[in-house]
Amino acid sequence: MKKVVLPKDLNGKTIFVAGAAGFVPGHLSEFYLKLGAKVIGVDNFITGSRSNAEYLLKEYRNFKFYEMDIIHELPLADLKNEKIDYIFSLASPASPIDFAKIPIEIMRVNSEGTLRLLELAREKGARFLEASTSEVYGDPQIHPQVEDYVGHVQINGPRSCYDESKRFAEAMTSSFRTKYAVDTRIVRIFNTYGPRMRANDGRVVPNFINQALRGEDLTVYGDGQQTRSFCYVTDLVTAIHNVMFSYGPGPFNIGNPDEKTILETAELIIKILNSKSKIVFKELPKDDPVRRRPCLAKLQSISDYRPQVDFEEGMIKTAEYFKSLA
Ligand code: NAD
Ligand code: UDP
Repeated sequence: MKKVVLPKDLNGKTIFVAGAAGFVPGHLSEFYLKLGAKVIGVDNFITGSRSNAEYLLKEYRNFKFYEMDIIHELPLADLKNEKIDYIFSLASPASPIDFAKIPIEIMRVNSEGTLRLLELAREKGARFLEASTSEVYGDPQIHPQVEDYVGHVQINGPRSCYDESKRFAEAMTSSFRTKYAVDTRIVRIFNTYGPRMRANDGRVVPNFINQALRGEDLTVYGDGQQTRSFCYVTDLVTAIHNVMFSYGPGPFNIGNPDEKTILETAELIIKILNSKSKIVFKELPKDDPVRRRPCLAKLQSISDYRPQVDFEEGMIKTAEYFKSLA
């Protein structure tokens, strides 16, 4: 496959980011603002934070923000005379605790919200990128996961609202490509962490780091032998950028293949943060995937992408962020 040529700057380009007040989309917005682009963000703060949007508004003159629920609307009147070059579809809650609290909102944003964004891409002739997820593989029966694997997904379980709606979002993205020739990309993001994650979003990294910082027990679910592969957020943004500027639609797995058991993750976080915390074992949530590691061969066939931030450095940076909130 043809190798990506990354632009040196994006002066004069306009980028639309759905979910701009969120964790990954906030970092992505800042990355493009630093490259000189104008970034237009929308968010309804269902899981994002006002402080993320306020930070970008304060630091960057080229950032414009709309508080809006993309299930229902986009700022179309304001965008009427606006050229848009790239659209990033990243507005979706992504934490398992959200799956229980706001399943309908999750399904609607990944279906109706994604549809709205694709229609905007079609109207503006913009390139469109859908942020899909490793969850489309469900509890995978092949390891590491390759893009051709069609997955092993529970249709009616606690994670289905997310997994199935992301699968739908991928199918919709591909259909806009075939039916309307919209220039689309799909990335499948594997577990990502870093500064500006919600401290209480229930995901394993914020839970373990905050427990370790407070000297509380680290809550390992099940026997902790399930695995995940953790990617630091700046590496993930680099990977998304490579795919947006690549020549093929994907899907591309993106993340870091550094796989660890959850028990090992807890032990390492205690060690790295020099914490006195102990480990306790709690019930394993239903349908918790047993193993997860991205095969990155496809991404690396089109780009020079290599993760730059290792586990220890990333955890220290993330812990510094959580400490700064205290
Ligand atoms: P996040 O919750 O921090 O960011 C998502 C943002 O979208 C939030 O600010 C939220 O308020 C906003 N949003 C949700 N519904 C909306 C709506 N209807 N209208 C407007 N805004 C809305 O989550 P994140 O971890 O940064 O994830 C960003 C994207 O990456 C999501 O699409 C997610 O599915 C995907 N992803 C993330 C991970 C990960 O490990 N972080 C893994 C796989 C996929
Ligand atoms: N997990 C855990 N303790 C916690 C939070 C999560 O052991 O306090 C486990 C969870 O059961 C899963 C893994 O850590 O096996 C990753 O969970 P997370 O919610 O971060 O993301 P997932 O990859 O499951 O979507």
